[in-house]
Parts: sequence; C-alpha cells; structure tokens
Amino acid sequence: MQHRPQLRQFLRLVPHKYRGPASIAIALIAGAFYLFQSCTGTQIPDGGSAHLRMGNPSQAGSAPDNYLLEKPQYALSYNRSLGTANWVSWQLNASWLGEAERQDDFRPDESLPAGWERIRHGDYMGSGYDRGHLTPSADRTRSASDNSATFLMTNIVPQTPENNRGAWKDLEAYARDLVRQGKELYVVAGVYGKGKRIGDGKVTAPSHTWKAMLVLDRPNAGLDSVSDNARVIAIDIPNRNNLKSDWQDYIVTVDDIEASTGYDLFSNLPDGVETAIERRRDRG
Ligand code: MN
Repeated sequence: MQHRPQLRQFLRLVPHKYRGPASIAIALIAGAFYLFQSCTGTQIPDGGSAHLRMGNPSQAGSAPDNYLLEKPQYALSYNRSLGTANWVSWQLNASWLGEAERQDDFRPDESLPAGWERIRHGDYMGSGYDRGHLTPSADRTRSASDNSATFLMTNIVPQTPENNRGAWKDLEAYARDLVRQGKELYVVAGVYGKGKRIGDGKVTAPSHTWKAMLVLDRPNAGLDSVSDNARVIAIDIPNRNNLKSDWQDYIVTVDDIEASTGYDLFSNLPDGVETAIERRRDRG
C-alpha cells in the first residue's frame, strides 16, 4: 500500500498489528469529522463574529477581568472582579427585529468558566439599582431565544433608575428608529468608574455608562464602505439620579470615551476613517 509522506510518517507511530484497513477507515472518519467541525464553526456560534466586525475594544481574551464571551446575539468583555461586563458589542439591523415577546428571564450566565461566581438577579434586589441591559431586550426580538439571551446577568449592569429609564432608554429607542429607516448599526456599550458595591460586594456599580453607535446606510455593506462622514453617536451618562432627560445632553466623542476607558473602539476601520469619525461630535 502506497501512502503520502505525511500519512506514512504518521503510520510509523502506529504498531503493526493496528495497521489494518479498519483502523485506517476509523482514522479517516475521525479526520473528516474534525474538518467538518472546523468548517461549520462549532466553537463560535453563527453570526457571533458580526458583533466584533468593528473591533475588540479591549482586546478581550482569556484574562478574568477582560474575558471574551461570544454569543450568537452579542459579544462581551466580562470583568470577574466587578461582576459585570466591561462592554458589550452588537450588530443591529432589521434582521434582528421581529415579534418575540420580552422574556424577562433574568438568570446567571452558565457559560462563564467553572468555579467563577455567577451573578444572580437576587444580587440586585433591594440595592436601589435597576438591572440595566447593555444589549437592550428590544434589540433582540427575532426569536424568543434571542430575546432571552439579553437577560443573562453578564449583559446586565447596576444602573440608577433615572439613567436606565431616561436618556439611556430614549437613545435605545432612537437606534431602532434608525434601523426601521433601513440603517445598520454597530453598537458598543459599557461602563467605567467604580460606584457602590452591591450583592454582598459581588457586583460593583459603575460611576458611568457609555455607548457608541456607528450608523451605516445599509446592511452588510462592509468595512470599506464606511466613509469619513459616517455618523457616530456617542454618549456618556453619569450613573446617578438627578439627570437631564434628553440623551442629546450627554453627547460626547468616541475619543472622549476612549480617553475615559482606555479602550480602542472601531479599530478595524481604516485609520483615516477611524480618526475622522471618532473626533466628531454628533449634533443629536
Ligand atoms: Mn478607535
């Protein structure tokens, strides 16, 4: 029997009595299965990468306080010490919007590594803070399971009622208005600064919540289609009560958010475009 050099080398490792046709068949089946798995992307759920198309703002990976979680519905950097995300990033276009009802099933995120504390919705009870969504429930209504994913506690941060239910919420609604006009948005929302600790100290409320939304004229146009004139809406809201009611009162630049957080947003864009859009203030 003639074998290709690599296979022959491999077979040298296999004792003679196992070199029958059955063993080779099993090896071929295992190989085919491995190839199939890598081609269908079993590791990363379908669509997950769309949420990081504009970049990974903190180079999140395996570090416990900058731990990357990729889900079909959004991608996030989790901070084990804070008990919240650092940021969550998601694509928003008409394909994500449908008729699914709000599932309201707040629950621990069991996809965190074994042995890590799971934040529970009870950790927020009596704290004075809302369970504030980073990816809004209403941005994920294509299916009940998509909507349910927004209620994982890794997508939730302690937000003051005035922040969660005021300017923050109004900008969320405005984003969906843009989508209904045919736009596609790449949104990153996150936290910085340390406020009160709640849930027996397991969760740190942020002192600020921020969001940056890149608005593109049509879905799936690709990075090269983003021009210097692309609209970016960025806000930074102090996480307290006694706030102004309009999101326009909290407009900042992406450069401001990058200075406050140390992250690099939209880093996958061509440098000239990135520079231009990050220093421009949206007019609201
Ligand atoms: Mn940037």
